[in-house]
Amino acid sequence: MKKVAIIGGGISGLYIASLLKQNCNYEIIVYEKNNSVNLEKGYGIQLSVNSIKLLNQIGFQKLTLEEKFNPNKVDFYSLKNQKKICDLNISTFNNADDKYTTLQRFTLIDFLKNKLPSNLINYNKKVIEVQNVSEIIKVIFEDNSSIECDYLIISDGIFSKTRSLISNKETKPRYFNSIAIRGTIDQKILQNIDHKNISLFLGSNLHSVVYPVNKNGQLNFVAILRKNLNSVELADYSLFNSEEFTSSTLLEISKQIDVNIIENLKEIKCFPVFVSTKISQPKNKNTFLIGDAFFAFPPTFAQGASQSIEVSHELYQNFKNENNQFNKERIKRTKMIDRKSRLNYFAFHLSNPLMCFVRNLIMRYLVKNKKFINSYLGKIYKN
Ligand SMILES: Cc1cc2nc3c(=O)[nH]c(=O)nc-3n(C[C@H](O)[C@H](O)[C@H](O)COP(=O)(O)OP(=O)(O)OC[C@H]3O[C@@H](n4cnc5c(N)ncnc54)[C@H](O)[C@@H]3O)c2cc1C
Repeated sequence: MKKVAIIGGGISGLYIASLLKQNCNYEIIVYEKNNSVNLEKGYGIQLSVNSIKLLNQIGFQKLTLEEKFNPNKVDFYSLKNQKKICDLNISTFNNADDKYTTLQRFTLIDFLKNKLPSNLINYNKKVIEVQNVSEIIKVIFEDNSSIECDYLIISDGIFSKTRSLISNKETKPRYFNSIAIRGTIDQKILQNIDHKNISLFLGSNLHSVVYPVNKNGQLNFVAILRKNLNSVELADYSLFNSEEFTSSTLLEISKQIDVNIIENLKEIKCFPVFVSTKISQPKNKNTFLIGDAFFAFPPTFAQGASQSIEVSHELYQNFKNENNQFNKERIKRTKMIDRKSRLNYFAFHLSNPLMCFVRNLIMRYLVKNKKFINSYLGKIYKN
């Protein structure tokens, strides 16, 4: 039996653990640096059909209907005049079992965690060193304990320390010149939108997204604001937890977003958005990167978690076929989704009124154009 160590108990690490657990050729253990998986409330997540299809393979469809939502459309609005620009039918790619889904992030993590016997997740295990001794990989943790394994799967997120350790150099993600503001809001506050859909508000150097996360009328709110930060500000993470920073950010977005919405946001968090600049491929053929450690996308196609799940599933297939590295198609697909996420960011943040007018005209045409939708969304949603 081959030993597989999975570093990081986030979405990608827990999902691949569930898949590999089904195969009796592998003995798996997840090593998580914190004392539990992250079940923090207040964060929403969108999962497109490409990942729902893969999650359903481990029983995601059995999650109660109260805990998730299936929006049919994305409604686009202009923040400037509060008018609807157009709507996009995202349910086109749904089928009877696999539907575009929005939910609370902790619901997904809790589901993935509960798929594993509790003794398969080892907590308080922060990796500090990785050694390769012929075919065996030795992993050393901060508490001086160590393990040996045949395969190492690195799923410790965007700031992956383990990725830096295996490449012997620090590989840092890049600040995306944007900060994210997240919170929850009751649907009673937002009277003028369709609560059954995802609402996307386009502003100047700012866009915000509102969507239902369950059947109880709770909506998730995310705003992405273009903002330059210097290296000192970026190095000091406590800045983003400070009330002063949150208040000044809320003040900035209140120039475009209704004050009533901002005043009624709960569980608010601000954080800088980081993205990957290149796809890292480990030199050791028995070491793999998945999830944000493999590649982190701009958040403007809502594909981070969906791609984490897709890449994990692909690695599982590779294990089954004894094929050791991701193929060229995965690299091409990652680059394609990254390009589209950046294009969305550009289009969502336009500030010149003439450019906005032209964008809105183009959007109205494109959302009804089947050929375009099949190419732009279909290539991502139909994996
Ligand atoms: C503003 C914003 C909005 C987003 N919205 C969406 C969305 O709507 N839909 C979507 O699909 N995606 C979204 N994403 C992206 C998505 O959240 C991530 O892509 C996804 O969570 C990545 O999962 P992961 O398992 O790779 O990493 P993570 O979820 O970050 O998990 C990494 C785990 O590794 C652990 N760890 C870290 N270092 C170590 C170490 N040294 N040793 C051991 N353990 C370690 C951490 O504690 C953590 O548990 C969004 C991202 C942002 C920034």
